[in-house]
Amino acid sequence: MKLKDLGEFGLIKRLADDISINDAQVVAGIGDDAAAIKAGGPKLILFTTDSLIENVHFTCSTITPYQIGWKALAVNLSDIAAMGGVPKHGLVSIGLPPQTPVDFVDSFYQGIKDLANKFKVNIVGGDTARSPQLIVNISLLGEVEEEYLALRSGAKAGDKVLVTGDLGGSAAHRLAGKHLPPRPRVEEGRVIVRRLWPTSMIDISDGLASDLRHICESSQVGAKIWSQKIPVSEKTRQMSEQSGKDFLRLALEGGEDYELLFTASPRRLSKLMSEIDVSMTVIGEITDQKGKLLLIDKEGKLHPLESKGYEHFKENRP
Ligand SMILES: [Mg+2]
Repeated sequence: MKLKDLGEFGLIKRLADDISINDAQVVAGIGDDAAAIKAGGPKLILFTTDSLIENVHFTCSTITPYQIGWKALAVNLSDIAAMGGVPKHGLVSIGLPPQTPVDFVDSFYQGIKDLANKFKVNIVGGDTARSPQLIVNISLLGEVEEEYLALRSGAKAGDKVLVTGDLGGSAAHRLAGKHLPPRPRVEEGRVIVRRLWPTSMIDISDGLASDLRHICESSQVGAKIWSQKIPVSEKTRQMSEQSGKDFLRLALEGGEDYELLFTASPRRLSKLMSEIDVSMTVIGEITDQKGKLLLIDKEGKLHPLESKGYEHFKENRP
C-alpha cells in the first residue's frame, strides 16, 4: 500500500494508533486542533505545529514572500483560536535553497513578525537549514483556562452549528491565481468560548464539509446544514462565477478559510447571540444520526454532505 491510498487522515490514524498517552497532564492529545496540557499553573498549555512547503502549499508565483510568512504563522494561530485559547510563544524553523535572495527571506520573516506583533506572540527560537525548496514549520504555544477549552468532541444532538465570517473566499482567490491572506479568528474565538460556551469547535482549514465531519466523528453525532444559510460574500460569488465554479462548492470544499466552525446549545444562543459583536451565522443543526452529514438545498431536498476537502497525499483541491 502507498501513502496515496491511505490518505492524510488514514496516515494520521495509523501513526496515532501506536501512541498511548498515560499521563494525566495531557488533557487533549492527537486528534484536535492543538494538544492541551496541564502544566501546574491555573491555565492549560496549548501546543500546535504546522508546516508550509513550497509547491505543496503554495507556489511563489501566486503569493509574496511576506504573505508566506504571514500565512505560516496564521495557520498556527488559527489552531490555537479553535481551542478557545490565546497564542503566546512560537518557534520558527525554515529550510531554504542557498540561492534564495536575502531580500526574500527578510520579507518572508517580516510577514511572520508583523502577525506575531499583532497578536503579541513572542518568537523565541527556531532552526535554519538548507533545503531544495522553501519549507517553514512553526510550533506555537498558547494558553486557555480549563473551563474555556473547546474540543472537537462535545457536540450534542440539538446543538446549532455556526460559522464565523464567510466561506469560499480563499478558494475563489486561488482559482483567480491570487492569494487571500488568512485572518486568524483569535479574538472571535475568545468571545465565543467566554459567552457561548461552545460544545465543540474547529477551524476551517480543509473545508466546511470535511471539518464538520471531524466534529461529528469526534463527537459521535450527525449534522444537517442548510445550503442557503452558508455565508458566502458577494465578492466570492462574483469570483467563482468568473471561474465557472459553483460558489457553494467552494464554500463547502475549498478550505483554507480559517474561520471557526462551532456548535452551541440553542438556549444559550437565543439568549446571547444578539449581544455578541462577532460576525457569525447559524448554518445547521447537530443530529443523533451518528456519522450522517446532510445538506438541505433551497427546495428542502436532502443530499449527503460529502467531504471532498483537501487531504495530503491525495490530489483533490478544487
Ligand atoms: Mg485546525
